[in-house]
Amino acid sequence: MSVNPQIRQRDPSSLRVGYSRNVRRFEIASIGVYAVAMVWLAARIGPRIAAAPFLVLSAFMLGYVLADFISGFVHWIADTWGTPECPVVGKALIRPFREHHVDPKEITRHDFIETNGNNCFISIVPAIAAALIPQHGPGSLFAATLMFSLTLWVLFTNQFHKWAHLDSPPALIDWLQRANLILPRDHHAVHHAAPYAKYYCITVGWLNEALFRLRFFQTLEQIITATTGAVPREDDIGKQAALALVAAEPLPSLDLPQLKVARALAKPE
Ligand SMILES: [Zn+2]
Ligand SMILES: [Zn+2]
Repeated sequence: MSVNPQIRQRDPSSLRVGYSRNVRRFEIASIGVYAVAMVWLAARIGPRIAAAPFLVLSAFMLGYVLADFISGFVHWIADTWGTPECPVVGKALIRPFREHHVDPKEITRHDFIETNGNNCFISIVPAIAAALIPQHGPGSLFAATLMFSLTLWVLFTNQFHKWAHLDSPPALIDWLQRANLILPRDHHAVHHAAPYAKYYCITVGWLNEALFRLRFFQTLEQIITATTGAVPREDDIGKQAALALVAAEPLPSLDLPQLKVARALAKPE
């Protein structure tokens, strides 16, 4: 049974209207506060780098991998659950992800503020917390550097994601993508095939294949569906396609009434 013909997505223009002036003001404020927090954090770490360069380098690299994982986790939550009408997170977080599946090129038309505002906002509290870590001993240096790297790469995630949607990026970006040092274009294209259910990591994508083979997100979805009855990506691809997708999974433990109906419908004639 093919799931794709059943996919129903939202109207792109109505999703665009959700990007209001207030959202934009919020993004500008977030970028400003984030920049100040990062300068403060860098000033705390900077004088100690020469004493332990390898410790700092390893914390910095770990931050990159961790940012890739977090990008995938947040992307998965926003793609899979909730609607743009949800209070607080609906307009600012879920709406851009819905829009991105309907119109993947829209992100390439976003300016610096729209691209990076959200990620600056979520990085403010971790950056300030890291700057407040009392700096004595290698542990505190490692923790502060890890947080600096993590928040930095979380910020760059949307930028790397945007570049992954450019048809012909500048030469340096193209080289970084081909070298697999930032999210490659063909790699990210795997996520953009309906039903948008794998390869969520969008910083560099190193973790995507492993998370997919480990059924990491699929298992989380099954646990959430089994315990709450919520249907993954119901708002993104429409209820019929989302139910068909769940029904296609071999899950004897899931006996929700709506899944029984979907399984019966999905059975070939
Ligand atoms: Zn997505
Ligand atoms: Zn994308």
